[in-house]
Amino acid sequence: MIRVSMICLCAFSQTAWAQPLPQRLAAVKPVIEQRLDAELPDLVALYKHFHSHAELSLQEEQTGLRLAKELRRAGFEVTERFGGHGVVGVLKNGAGPTILVRADMDALPIVEETGLAYASKVRTRDADGREVGVMHACGHDVNVACLVGTARMLSGLDKHWRGTLVFIGQPAEEIGAGARAMLDAGLFTKFPRPEYGLALHCDGRYPHGTVNWRAGRCRRTSIRWTSSSAARGATAPRRTSRSIRS
Ligand SMILES: [Zn+2]
Repeated sequence: MIRVSMICLCAFSQTAWAQPLPQRLAAVKPVIEQRLDAELPDLVALYKHFHSHAELSLQEEQTGLRLAKELRRAGFEVTERFGGHGVVGVLKNGAGPTILVRADMDALPIVEETGLAYASKVRTRDADGREVGVMHACGHDVNVACLVGTARMLSGLDKHWRGTLVFIGQPAEEIGAGARAMLDAGLFTKFPRPEYGLALHCDGRYPHGTVNWRAGRCRRTSIRWTSSSAARGATAPRRTSRSIRS
């Protein structure tokens, strides 16, 4: 997933340069493959870190700070805590189009029961004060790791493309609040306004190695519903909440 995503994003950046895409891509693809082989172990470790340190919507402080650190290390000029825990990284590389690449950072209020060595054991309070488990059940840990990998790749291959990259870590995607907060904070006025925007999201419905894309809206947010019910013989109503993918 990480490999395919990075190749596709690098390929997209090639299209932004006024040279024939097939020739440029053929020339750079072996270099991308070689660098990916070198980077992949560290990126997988980074994915596991984000997975085991999952944070709920509006609580993604440590995820945002780690992403900011990684983007800085990749050579980006970074603004952290933007629109809440949002992150904006800008890399200017000469005249050319401005491309925004986005990853979401928040996890869901779900107790992880995968048994993985790096499973999340995080518990926290949600916005209503209830204690909940926290799990990257929507794959935003993958998305952030892919964003970092893409940042490293494009920064390291800056002789093969020109333009400006705006990489963002979007908080609170699951509750639909993070994008609005970043826009209200001036994402498109305080930073270069993008001509293209790429929003990467992993998708468990398709086989490994598959990449789908579409223009416009692609996925929607999750919602949370709470119900109360009284079971026969219970002394008090039980409350439960579930996150639902739409
Ligand atoms: Zn998601």
